[in-house]
Amino acid sequence: MFKSIYPFTGEQVAEYQPHTPEQVTAIIANAARAFTTLQATTLQQRCDWMRATAQHLKDKAAEYGALITREMGKTLKEATAEVNKCADSALYYADQAPAMLEDRLIKTEARASYVSYQPLGTVLAIMPWNFPFWQVFRFAIPNLLAGNTGLLKHASNVSGCALALEAIFREGGFPEYAFQALLISSDHIEPVIADARIQGVTLTGSTPAGRSVGALAGKYLKKSVLELGGSDPFIVLRDADLDKAATTAVLSRMQNAGQSCIAAKRWIVEAPVVEAFTEKVKNILASKIQGDPFKDATDIGPMARPDLAQALSKQLVQSVAAGARLEMGGGVQGCNFTPALLSGVQPGMTAYAEETFGPLAAIIPAASAAAAIALANDSSFGLGASLWTQDLEKARLLAAQVQSGSVFVNSLMRSDARLPFGGIKESGYGRELSVEGMHEFLNIKTVYME
Ligand code: NAP
Repeated sequence: MFKSIYPFTGEQVAEYQPHTPEQVTAIIANAARAFTTLQATTLQQRCDWMRATAQHLKDKAAEYGALITREMGKTLKEATAEVNKCADSALYYADQAPAMLEDRLIKTEARASYVSYQPLGTVLAIMPWNFPFWQVFRFAIPNLLAGNTGLLKHASNVSGCALALEAIFREGGFPEYAFQALLISSDHIEPVIADARIQGVTLTGSTPAGRSVGALAGKYLKKSVLELGGSDPFIVLRDADLDKAATTAVLSRMQNAGQSCIAAKRWIVEAPVVEAFTEKVKNILASKIQGDPFKDATDIGPMARPDLAQALSKQLVQSVAAGARLEMGGGVQGCNFTPALLSGVQPGMTAYAEETFGPLAAIIPAASAAAAIALANDSSFGLGASLWTQDLEKARLLAAQVQSGSVFVNSLMRSDARLPFGGIKESGYGRELSVEGMHEFLNIKTVYME
């Protein structure tokens, strides 16, 4: 049984029967048939369905938001904003898809030569609970528009969201079985990836899950995209706008109760401004209201599961034992973890070396801008980064040196349908969003006519 538990109180809200192997086989067969159905539709038709899907999301944003909050605990205002972001991104792609999927003419000595973008078939998406709608939509929007069908193996604590997502695309008008939820645990994933009707697999989740799914994708020769963990640096140089940097650092780290792959997890601050920056972030953190995620005044809700809060607490204790200073926070009760700030974090400490997936910020002092970049790059991860300086020439030079899939200068690192998103190093490979995301699971076919 998959159980959905409301993290704030620990009360069970629903339970779901997993699909049997026979049901899984039928779901895959239906997805393959739906691919044939989708191939007989026009892009215009699919764009219209995507626009209707967006409208449905907007109409029901509060209802879906409440479902998200009940299953994984983020505040209702964050959950509703997440649903609206899905709708806006669906509209963006519905407008852009015709240009993104148009044949690309290439001049050669041939009479005509061009690249065409064709759907591959059914793609499996293995998704996490932290943004249970957005992570799924950023895969599903471009793939359904391009004509692929999707199977969703969602995290086992958000089965209600998984089933709602399946229904949402039908509401928008997409053919039955174009997008289906698979209620299975991760140890039943191999036969799905192995199935000849599955053309690719995308996973958003932890690095260990990525290694496992990447190995299966290699074993069965399936195209794969891996969006994995991160320990994003938030680099504050001595000439930064400290007020804006401090506000953004807290927002980036604490939104979604700190459970975001691209949260600013390591605050690397140039020595002359460490003290001033620390004071500012402490004041901002102290003003944040933690509590009932359904209340409008609440800024920070519970974490999604008690074991995650315990794991974060262990990372905090280990870092303090190694010499980090606990400036504030760190209390744990069930899923509720008081937002915590560590200062004086050094290489080798747990909060420096590991991903911390919750409301815990680590201030790492740097002797110079060059030292800050070296610290930023001293990580097995390479997802995003945020860099703060008023000197944009310097920012351009330093941004080129940061080892990550994105660098946001004087801005919150975030995902945006218009911009490619993904990592390097142990943060994974491949891209979602923008035109790069649209092309990941397509046959990029060369046609040459002499
Ligand atoms: P997780 O434990 O890796 O789970 C993610 C998904 O993968 C779930 O559906 C999970 O299913 C499944 N899974 C886990 N192990 C698997 C395996 N060996 N084979 C196949 N599937 C497997 O991650 P999480 O705790 O839900 O999410 C937090 C992690 O995701 C963090 O590391 C975070 O940084 C990362 N993340 C990355 C991005 C990005 O875009 N790069 C975005 C969001 C989150 P079950 O629930 O059934 O175990």
